[in-house]
Amino acid sequence: MLLVLKKVARKAINLPRWTVRKIINVLRWIVIKTIHLPQLFRAAHYWWSLTNVAEFQFLKDRCPLCRSHFLLKLNSSETGVRCISCQAGVVQMSIILAVQKYAKNLKSLDAYELSSGGPVVTFLKGNAGSLTLSEYFDDVRPGELKGGVLCQDIQALTFNDNLFDLCTSTEVFEHVPDDTKGFQEIFRVLKKQGVLVFTVPINLAGVTLQRAVIKNGELVHLEEPEYHDDAIRGKGKVLAYRTYGTNIVAQLKNTGFEDALIDETFKDKLFGHGRAVVVAFAGNKAARNKGYSPTESVQP
Ligand SMILES: [Zn+2]
Repeated sequence: MLLVLKKVARKAINLPRWTVRKIINVLRWIVIKTIHLPQLFRAAHYWWSLTNVAEFQFLKDRCPLCRSHFLLKLNSSETGVRCISCQAGVVQMSIILAVQKYAKNLKSLDAYELSSGGPVVTFLKGNAGSLTLSEYFDDVRPGELKGGVLCQDIQALTFNDNLFDLCTSTEVFEHVPDDTKGFQEIFRVLKKQGVLVFTVPINLAGVTLQRAVIKNGELVHLEEPEYHDDAIRGKGKVLAYRTYGTNIVAQLKNTGFEDALIDETFKDKLFGHGRAVVVAFAGNKAARNKGYSPTESVQP
C-alpha cells in the first residue's frame, strides 16, 4: 500500500524521493497518533498557528533526539523549526547535538538535567546510564519533592560532591540570581571527568550584560526588565538577570572548571537557527578522554 502511494506521489507530482518518503512518514505517523486524537488535535492546532505556508519546508536531517524524519520549518523564525514527532525545538536539538559530541558513551554516564520534563528529559531517560532531574519551586525546601519532582536551588545543591558525569540545562542560568554560585555548585557535584553542557541566550559579539541584581535582599533592575517563558510558571513569568556574552568562558574557568568553550558549530544547522552551546570540563582528563584538545578552536 505504502509502495503504491510512494509511486503515485512520485509520478503525479514529480517530487524528490526523500520528500515523498517524508510525506509518507508523516501520514503513517498521523495514522498511529490518531489513537491519541485529542493530543494530536491540540498539537496540530499549535503547529498550524506557527505555520507560514510560503516558508514551510522539510529538513533532510533526522531529529537528533528521536531520530525521526519529522524536522520541519513551519516559518522562518527560530520557533518555527521543530520536530513534530518529539516536539523538540532548536534549543533542544542543539544541546543534544552537543551532548552527543562531548559526552561519549552516554549509556554509561550518570546525568543530571536541571528540569523535569520535555524532549531533552525524554532523550536522556532513554539514552543516559542514570538520570537525576530537578526543578526550582518557590514554595518547597530544596531536597524535598513536589508532585514527585525533586526541588533544587542551583545556588545551593543538596547533593554530595562528585556525583555526576554530565550536567545539562537549557535556558536556566540567565534566571539564576547568583550564577557564579550556580556554576561552582555544578562543578562540585560533577565527577572530575564530568562535563557541563548548556544553552543560555548569548551575545557572541559582546560581554555579559547584567540586567538585574539582588542587593541587600532587594531586586534591583539595571536594565529594562526582560521576562522569559517557563514550563512551570508560565509565559513571560521568569526574570532574566543577564544576557550572557563570550566572557562566560572565563567566568566558568574562574569557578573551578578546567576548561570551557562556546561551540558555535551547530549554528549553521537547523535551517541556520541552531544555537551556540556552552561546554565546561571539570578536568582536563575529561577533555582528553573525549578526544578534545583544550587548545582546539571550535568556532567556525
Ligand atoms: Zn524528534
